[in-house]
Amino acid sequence: MSSTRTEALVGTLRQHGWRVTSARRAVIAALVEAEGHMTADQLAEKVQSNQPDVHLSTVYRTLEALEQVGLVDHTHLGHGRAVYHLADDPHQHLVCDGCGAVIEVPDDTFTSLADTLRRSHGFTIRPSHFAVLGRCAACNQGQASG
Ligand SMILES: [Zn+2]
Ligand SMILES: [Zn+2]
Ligand SMILES: [Zn+2]
Repeated sequence: MSSTRTEALVGTLRQHGWRVTSARRAVIAALVEAEGHMTADQLAEKVQSNQPDVHLSTVYRTLEALEQVGLVDHTHLGHGRAVYHLADDPHQHLVCDGCGAVIEVPDDTFTSLADTLRRSHGFTIRPSHFAVLGRCAACNQGQASG
């Protein structure tokens, strides 16, 4: 199943005129297998376990290509750490300061905030680019009972 998804992504990249090398294919496969959030370093490590000759710079260039054609998004979960995820499942991120949990919430979570800011400041926010930091339910509960 994950291999058909990889092939679909490879196909789209080709349609946009990118040459898909085995290194690029490996990066895409690693992203599909991860089914979550991976830093470029983590992706490189995964790819290099099968293809040790793939450079970190190749991983970055592949991620850039994938972002350019809209297949991949990146987001910053905390202090500048960028993680990558496939763009066919749009969502927003909440990160807990207490335990580090990453919570995915629906893409339209910030719609009313976005409307307010556009009306009051003419500013269009792109909340998917940064996580919103705070405290998760479990940490809040622990605090209340402790
Ligand atoms: Zn960024
Ligand atoms: Zn994500
Ligand atoms: Zn927490």
